[in-house]
Amino acid sequence: MPHTSPTDGWTTCDLGHRHWGLVGAAGLLVHRPGPAGPEALLQHRVEWSHHGGTWGTPGGALHEGESATEGALREAGEELGLLPGQLTLGELSVDDHGGWSYSTVLATPVDELDPARLVLDRESTEVAWVSLADPGVELHPGLAAALPTLLGLVG
Ligand SMILES: [Zn+2]
Repeated sequence: MPHTSPTDGWTTCDLGHRHWGLVGAAGLLVHRPGPAGPEALLQHRVEWSHHGGTWGTPGGALHEGESATEGALREAGEELGLLPGQLTLGELSVDDHGGWSYSTVLATPVDELDPARLVLDRESTEVAWVSLADPGVELHPGLAAALPTLLGLVG
């Protein structure tokens, strides 16, 4: 979230959690088949960020009037330099908490996508393909909670 928006801020959902993004948030799950099952393009979040040090999908607070897909692609562009033309969009998975929701936009790369060629902003220190079945790294708690659902969608 390098740019500020009127929709930036903390809010409380009907389940009593505190969430960032007054009108909800969205992330982009770029996935591909790997030798040990599906892999996702995840970023290692800098320590000072919310849930810093964990690995998660690029994403953040939606802007006013923005669709989940628009928001997820904007965040992926800001955080990883990913361009819409590099991706084929798939399903949309919405985790609705009541009064707040997190939408995950699924996508697959059009061509081979080498994380070393992505341009990171200062919110992440690293980006890599991570096995979803056996990540071997600490996942962002939101991603970890959504993983069973997402694994069903990426097949
Ligand atoms: Zn919640």
